[in-house]
Amino acid sequence: ATPTAVMVGTGVGASQGVLIKGGQALESAHKVDCIVFDKTGTLTIGKPLVVNTRLLKNMVLREFYELIAAAEVNSEHPLAKAIVEYAKKFRDEENPVWAEAKNFESITGHGVRATVQNKEIIVGNKSLILKKGIGISIDADEILTEVEELAQTGILVCIDGQLTGILAISDPLKPGAHEVISILKSMKVKSIVVTGDNWGTANSIAKEVGIDDVIAEAKPEDKAEKVKELQASGRVVAMVGDGINDSPALVAADVGMAIGAGTDIAIEAADIVLMKSNLEDVITAIDLSRKTFTRIR
Ligand code: ADP
Ligand code: MG
Repeated sequence: ATPTAVMVGTGVGASQGVLIKGGQALESAHKVDCIVFDKTGTLTIGKPLVVNTRLLKNMVLREFYELIAAAEVNSEHPLAKAIVEYAKKFRDEENPVWAEAKNFESITGHGVRATVQNKEIIVGNKSLILKKGIGISIDADEILTEVEELAQTGILVCIDGQLTGILAISDPLKPGAHEVISILKSMKVKSIVVTGDNWGTANSIAKEVGIDDVIAEAKPEDKAEKVKELQASGRVVAMVGDGINDSPALVAADVGMAIGAGTDIAIEAADIVLMKSNLEDVITAIDLSRKTFTRIR
């Protein structure tokens, strides 16, 4: 393609809300034959909601949520925000003041821990609870499986070393996500999901969206590692993500695509920014590149 064609291509992209950072990014996109998608905030809307509470001990729901909110209000994680938002329903005020959390600790990719009203509160995934040496009963495990089969995330709550409840949190697929994946398939582009969420939920979401290839419980390094592994097998890889934890993979990919509504760090790490945060624009970007680089040789 001529420099003029590249300029035109980049301009057309910009006018459609697909920000392409330079000619190299536009060129690489037409060779992409494999896309790694982050789950939360990329395939899903990214605004999780608490949809169910399963108490395992006799406790008043309002008191249960008082303790959890006091801990989670100190976390920036989208799941924490969903939990605090839900806890507000048990209060009359618009912006309630939560109890003080002492010794707050955020365990990245796992959850939080704090002391609230002299009780030890742990909120997080199964691996965090097991790491703290707290037992998970067969009943609790069954609830978790049920929740995950519904493509929801199960968050475990421990109070003073006792598993006390499980929250079911739902973050639905973006509208049109399934169509985007099937169009990519028809364009001979393979799709993969990589997420920090658990295997059960990840598999259910992947099934819903029509993706067979899943990697769950992935740390940021694991996401980048998967990209490199695919490249080593001869594939030209795009990564689509929105979070800080996606940035190493966005950098490693042949084409990193950030969701516009994502974190600044992801946007900075990417070669292409999807300003409208639409998944359809993954196709727009590849189409534009194919048109620019196959018309004139
Ligand atoms: P994702 O790729 O889904 O954004 P993260 O690596 O941020 O995943 O988190 C992985 C998992 O750790 C979450 O799905 C959740 O189970 C748990 N987790 C992380 N932060 C929190 C938190 N503040 N409260 C409860 N659970 C959390
Ligand atoms: Mg994400």
